[in-house]
Amino acid sequence: MPPPVFRFAPSPNGYLHLGHAFSALLNFDMARASGGQFLLRIEDIDATRCRPEFEAAIYEDLEWLGISWETPVRRQSDHFSDFREAVEKLSGRDLIYPAFESRAEIARLVAERESVAPWPRDPDGAPLYPGAAKSFSAPARRQLIGQGLPYALRLDMAAAMAQAPDLTWIEHGEGPAGETGIVAARPEDWGDVILARKETPTSYHLSVVIDDALQGVTCVVRGQDLFWATSVHRLLQSLLDSPQPVYRHHRLVLDGTGQKLSKSTRATALRELRGQGATPAHIRRLVGLA
Ligand code: GLU
Repeated sequence: MPPPVFRFAPSPNGYLHLGHAFSALLNFDMARASGGQFLLRIEDIDATRCRPEFEAAIYEDLEWLGISWETPVRRQSDHFSDFREAVEKLSGRDLIYPAFESRAEIARLVAERESVAPWPRDPDGAPLYPGAAKSFSAPARRQLIGQGLPYALRLDMAAAMAQAPDLTWIEHGEGPAGETGIVAARPEDWGDVILARKETPTSYHLSVVIDDALQGVTCVVRGQDLFWATSVHRLLQSLLDSPQPVYRHHRLVLDGTGQKLSKSTRATALRELRGQGATPAHIRRLVGLA
């Protein structure tokens, strides 16, 4: 068997905190213990929030922790053509449609629905797409695009699931309710997810799947908050004929009040702790790694 390939894939939209340190160290330790590779990927598709100084800080903080990675590092914004190609592939199979509602319009539609009955929400708590854009004719779509309206390209979840039914994944970690082993994917829980936008040819779900495949990632080790996103990833892998990695979703590092750490809290930023005299060995102990 070829050696396993692990990756740590942070977004440079803030400074790394203890939660990132735990995930990066876990991936790095597992790669070392198994004679595998450890890759670093910069997930910077959101041009409004990602900044070069945060990317530079990622390299600095990881090096300080004693982590080394394969080069070149893959930076997602350098590979938009790979994502466009995948969108075209799915579009050619009639699995994608443009939706033109603004965020405010979507919020209004959801409020309208919820005044009658509860409206379903995805595993992250966001309401499912409530619009009717899927039923627009091809000429109507062309006309709206021609008018220069912004749009999101959404996956037609029902059609996609019909082409890739009964998906599962192998979980070596644990889901929020203790799910482990062979887990049944539930992509329907996410509704018609956004795969790209007019100005950005990809989304988190699409780029993570394409990059894991292009980089030959065999073991995805990441936080439990992404456990159910794996449903969408398995669906896209199946539709795009990508290999299926195994998954290990790990516990999250929580703050003193039991909340998930955030990039905007300085208290747990690695550089802040370093400034206060913490050593990499302290950080390992703080996140519960030997
Ligand atoms: N870029 C994602 C994040 O920073 C992680 C993606 C993944 O591991 O699948 O939360």
